Amino acid sequence: MDCSREAECKGVHDRLFNINHCKNQEEEPRSCCGSTWMEPLADVSSKAGKCIWIPGPIIVGGGPSGLAVSACLKQKGIPSVVLERAPCIASLWQLKTYDRLHLHLPKQFCELPLMPFPAAFPTYPTKHQFVAYLEAYCRAFDIEPRFRETVVGAEYDRLLGFWRVKTVARGGGEEEKREYLCRWLVAATGENAEAVVPEFDGAGEFRGPILHTSSYKSGDAFRGKRVLVVGCGNSGMEVCLDLCDNNANPTIVVRDSVHILPREIAGRSTFGLSMWLLQWLPVEAVDRLLLLAARLMLGDTARLGLRRPRLGPLRLKSLSGKTPVLDVGTLGRIKSGDIKVRPAVKRLVERGAEFVDGRSEEFDAVILATGYKSNVPCWLKEKEFFSEEDGLPKRAFPDGWKGERGLYAVGFTKRGLLGASMDARRIAQDIEQSWKCCESSTTSEGEGFAEMMSHECQQVHWGLSTNSWKAEAHFIPTSIATSDIQLSRQWL
Ligand SMILES: Cc1cc2nc3c(=O)[nH]c(=O)nc-3n(C[C@H](O)[C@H](O)[C@H](O)COP(=O)(O)OP(=O)(O)OC[C@H]3O[C@@H](n4cnc5c(N)ncnc54)[C@H](O)[C@@H]3O)c2cc1C
Repeated sequence: MDCSREAECKGVHDRLFNINHCKNQEEEPRSCCGSTWMEPLADVSSKAGKCIWIPGPIIVGGGPSGLAVSACLKQKGIPSVVLERAPCIASLWQLKTYDRLHLHLPKQFCELPLMPFPAAFPTYPTKHQFVAYLEAYCRAFDIEPRFRETVVGAEYDRLLGFWRVKTVARGGGEEEKREYLCRWLVAATGENAEAVVPEFDGAGEFRGPILHTSSYKSGDAFRGKRVLVVGCGNSGMEVCLDLCDNNANPTIVVRDSVHILPREIAGRSTFGLSMWLLQWLPVEAVDRLLLLAARLMLGDTARLGLRRPRLGPLRLKSLSGKTPVLDVGTLGRIKSGDIKVRPAVKRLVERGAEFVDGRSEEFDAVILATGYKSNVPCWLKEKEFFSEEDGLPKRAFPDGWKGERGLYAVGFTKRGLLGASMDARRIAQDIEQSWKCCESSTTSEGEGFAEMMSHECQQVHWGLSTNSWKAEAHFIPTSIATSDIQLSRQWL
């Protein structure tokens, strides 16, 4: 056994005996996130808080990344608790994406660990097929997230040697504050947790709707309308195509340069081909080949107002995380004039927009395809591992999955589902080592802990705790007057 892990683990158990330092009345965490499920704890009139000890890892976020970690842990016999603010798994895919969305990458690059996509699925599954796959994944690994439970704060308690995770659970018109204690904390809230909504001069004057792509479902609602789409990533491009297909008149704002690549080259997915070429050639050479193929297949995009960046697409992606657009037909509609291209917006006016090139045009609606950002700095009180600026791990891929004191990050690699799967496997392997160490050292110390708790407790309730395993004892210690501490008998 790894000696340092054993020592770390023993420390955790020893510190357990300081449990009466578990104060529930700390400064309330403040949320800076605008999501429907991320309201500030201070605004919540809650019932008495519960303090729940979780023997396994807590995973914050029930998207593909969180589910992948939970499944990998499950395979190793380690139960976990998944906390999800939405009422469903994969809320980004189910609630915040447009109807026509398909996976941008071929399915073999998007499957989660331990379970391939069904063979009958097409190369680019629809979002509904992807969600069906995720639901089957949950069933296969018996993952039951705790829905409608938003993590509003998480902090390492050095005295206890545990992470303290504060949540607000909503259900049946009521809200309840909870606090969990756990040894391992996995941040799986994603790179796309909150919509980025830029401010525009004159936005208040514009008389039409202004919405983010996270609220856009289909072009059906915009038939016959002049729609300004701000942002030219994969979403902005595809929303324009959808608007065209629904007889709306879209104009796309291209503020910066952008790489547009064909989705397939010579019958192979561009992504797959790039990955294959990278095994033999340096990234600069692969970039040159991609740009040559793009030029031959798509022509000179700069003539359409879509200037290419100075760096090649793969180099740019690895340095800045900016994903190239894989064309699914939008470019053809730009060439035919069905979609107009304009430079940056200078300001919005009552009936439309002024652009930085001095042009003015009328629009009925504005759709912001301006992307998303991480919300980790809003809830995680930790400054070493995650950057407060962008909410991503400070260490670059492939080293950004593991922090200190049992903290992990999954799905923040800017490498989509493939990156998330790699993280998930590593995290599960790492936790397995300390889990085994803790299991073997639990018996005697666990008994001591149980004894200490039974002295501390005024009452003992019998009942059920988490969905993930059977936890049978609920204690209310005198020192935690307003809290329940729920313990797993299995652990003891
Ligand atoms: C339109 C679109 C298309 C994409 N297509 C692809 C593709 O084809 N291939 C690919 O590899 N990637 C694609 N991506 C990237 C995408 O980010 C990943 O596919 C995937 O959704 C990432 O999973 P995740 O679990 O890391 O994050 P998410 O899917 O964002 O899941 C995070 C979960 O955490 C929850 N959460 C957030 N904050 C809290 C909190 N405080 N408390 C509790 N729960 C919380 C959220 O509700 C959410 O359910 C696409 C992204 C978008 C926006």
